[in-house]
Amino acid sequence: MYTQFKNHLLSTIAEITEAGLYKNERIIVSPQGAEIELNTGHKVLNFCANNYLGLSNNQKLVDAAKEALHSHGYGMSSVRFICGTTDLHKELERKIAGFFGTEDTILYAACFDANGGVFEPLLSEDDAIISDALNHASIIDGVRLCKAQRYRYANADMADLEKQLQQAMQQRFRLIVTDGVFSMDGNVAPVDRIAALAEKYDAMVMIDESHSAGVVGRTGRGVTELFNLQGRIEIITGTLGKAFGGAIGGFTTGKKEIIELLRQRSRPYLFSNSIPPLVAAAGIRMIDMMTETNELQDKLHRNSEYFIERMTSLGFDIKPTKSAICAVMLYDARLSQEFAAGLLDEGIYVTGFYYPVVPKGEARIRVQLSSGHETAHLDKAIGAFEKIGRKLGVLK
Ligand SMILES: *Cc1c(COP(=O)(O)O)cnc(C)c1O
Repeated sequence: MYTQFKNHLLSTIAEITEAGLYKNERIIVSPQGAEIELNTGHKVLNFCANNYLGLSNNQKLVDAAKEALHSHGYGMSSVRFICGTTDLHKELERKIAGFFGTEDTILYAACFDANGGVFEPLLSEDDAIISDALNHASIIDGVRLCKAQRYRYANADMADLEKQLQQAMQQRFRLIVTDGVFSMDGNVAPVDRIAALAEKYDAMVMIDESHSAGVVGRTGRGVTELFNLQGRIEIITGTLGKAFGGAIGGFTTGKKEIIELLRQRSRPYLFSNSIPPLVAAAGIRMIDMMTETNELQDKLHRNSEYFIERMTSLGFDIKPTKSAICAVMLYDARLSQEFAAGLLDEGIYVTGFYYPVVPKGEARIRVQLSSGHETAHLDKAIGAFEKIGRKLGVLK
């Protein structure tokens, strides 16, 4: 049997390779950060991590994790409800709720699990989920696991959302779900208008703040801060794996009855291990830091504005963004790969994306800014973009 199956796998892998979609991993031998070292000996400036606040190797978080390693040990060897809950898990859940201005929080091993486990316990075939077409894969999978009726609207298209809501009026409960920031364009979901439509059509709202928490809003509270909707959104999900330290872990935060039922019924919570106490301890320290000072958020916003302004004045075509994701549009798939390779030769590590990750004819290089970047890093990247841009005829 396996011989046939193996041939089947090899031909699938060959198809992936022929389509130019085979993913190779670069191997990093230093801590994650603005400057990283690869196993090839190359030292490069990193512009493709989700390390928005530069916390992946922050000394205070490392120290908090070390202390917890001594006080609470390494692993929990249990799910939360059997014997996997420590004081640190409970404190982090409270801190996250305090940060977002929500009522309660439930932790997961990842936001993939938070999204995978949020719909099925809450909604049934009598209900409706109305989902943005560009929502993250984990939301799509979570929706598939739930029996609710599915409606889909074009990315951030409020006329389409309204049309879908009208169709969903026959269902008992309606939940609109959107990413806060969409990862390919860096655009912010129009949550003010989504909330208004939710009110008009008697629906609830869920926002995945994975790319917006720590980033969007003056103090990094995410899109609910940007649109002045703190405490008004029923469900927020997010990750500890991006701006929030970059290790591992996810959460759902929102109305307390929702969180309470998730603790009873959410399958990734009930049937998967709790996060290590050291990750919870570093998470607590991270939220404290973001509450004590706004330095990191301010620096990220300065860096993003600086980079986008310089790149625009050089003549690059940048998608409008309020996040730390900057899509430098090149349109042509091959060009995006040549451009990224040219930048790597200049010591700038970015990723070129093309179909099917983004729509056909919309190839781009995605730059992710961080408060870990200094102005010299940004200048070096901008200089490299200019050099390769002229060489490849993108800039005249
Ligand atoms: C990264 C991401 C996730 C997954 O987060 P993990 O904690 O890494 O599983 C979920 N949703 C969105 C929108 C993301 O960007």
